[in-house]
Amino acid sequence: MAALAMYSAELYARVLSDPPAFQRTGSVEVTRSADTLRLLARKREVALAGGIDAELVSPERLTKLVPYLDSDGLAGGLFIPDDGVLDVRRLLQALHEAAQDHGLAFREGVQVIDFARDGDRITGVITDQGTIFASRVIVAVGIWGRELAGKAGLDLALYPVQHPYLQTKPLPRVVTGEMRPFVRDLDNLFYLREHGDRLGYGWYNHSPLAAEVDTTIKADLAYEDRKFDAALSYDLFPILEQTGSCRKLNGIFSMTPDGAPLLGQVDGAKGLWVAEAVWVTHAGAVGKAMAECILDRSPSFDITQFHLDRFASMDEQSRRHASMSLYNDIYAWPAETGDPAQVQIKGSKAVNHDRLSLL
Ligand SMILES: Cc1cc2nc3c(=O)[nH]c(=O)nc-3n(C[C@H](O)[C@H](O)[C@H](O)COP(=O)(O)OP(=O)(O)OC[C@H]3O[C@@H](n4cnc5c(N)ncnc54)[C@H](O)[C@@H]3O)c2cc1C
Repeated sequence: MAALAMYSAELYARVLSDPPAFQRTGSVEVTRSADTLRLLARKREVALAGGIDAELVSPERLTKLVPYLDSDGLAGGLFIPDDGVLDVRRLLQALHEAAQDHGLAFREGVQVIDFARDGDRITGVITDQGTIFASRVIVAVGIWGRELAGKAGLDLALYPVQHPYLQTKPLPRVVTGEMRPFVRDLDNLFYLREHGDRLGYGWYNHSPLAAEVDTTIKADLAYEDRKFDAALSYDLFPILEQTGSCRKLNGIFSMTPDGAPLLGQVDGAKGLWVAEAVWVTHAGAVGKAMAECILDRSPSFDITQFHLDRFASMDEQSRRHASMSLYNDIYAWPAETGDPAQVQIKGSKAVNHDRLSLL
């Protein structure tokens, strides 16, 4: 996963450079606890060994890096200077144009309803505007993936979950244009970043909430405060209590039982592939690997560990439970043992760790 993230960040920086879509703002992971700081020291070693620059920083340094962070009460943090924030809209536009320059045609506003078949081979997609024939089809429709893949008889272990993301009103005196590192509060499972001239923030420290997804649902739900009731990091960011939030999003993203993507070819449906539960953090590399696979080239990244039927021995209830529990462990990471499956900061075990390593 770290290799996927590193390649993706490098790709995003290369595609658009003036001004860059991917801004290397750096990130800091902070904690109030000496124990967690020791884990961060270990994480630093793991990062350095993997070629990722990382530095343990004092509370004083944290306030210099992020002036609106009140570091009183913090034990310290881990600074990763090459982390960054992506302007997804601009990046997608640039990729879209580059693909068109290479002869790719896009059909927008078309809904795929089912797959066209010839025996056990998928021969295209049936849409609300007719059938489009294709020798290779990839299901890459985000939170709607389980329903669509089900049309091909595939039972994807994909579980959409609700996630809050709030923004303050514009704060031109605070958010000055030169982006500061984004912050992850590991004790409160809370993050904060600059978003245009606002601060944006979200948290995982609330009961995981599944989202029932069908073709009619949009990518966000109604925001209700009580759903996400949790202790926010007001001690670190008093400015949030003063300003409040004026934009509230209840977004939906995909979880899987091990927090990793679902990538690969569908057994029993020749010509059909899946690329689901892919975070932006890893998407550039996943796109490259999937393109190589469907062209029968060997992929630049080993995606066999993400194969689609790796949860076949789990029943539906266990898969759902594991996926939902992982939501609260989204900031867990491999520490002392170096074995991701054995490591926790708080909560239950998690194999999901380095989705947070670069973005
Ligand atoms: C609040 C929030 C914060 C997040 N923060 C981060 C972050 O910091 N870092 C990160 O890496 N990720 C983050 N994510 C997750 C990230 O946004 C998703 O993982 C990513 O957008 C998934 O991309 P995708 O292309 O797979 O799916 P999507 O972006 O959802 O695209 C799927 C597309 O398929 C289309 N589609 C669906 N069904 C059909 C159909 N039947 N026929 C035709 N088209 C169809 C949809 O209309 C949509 O355009 C966040 C998500 C949320 C909600």
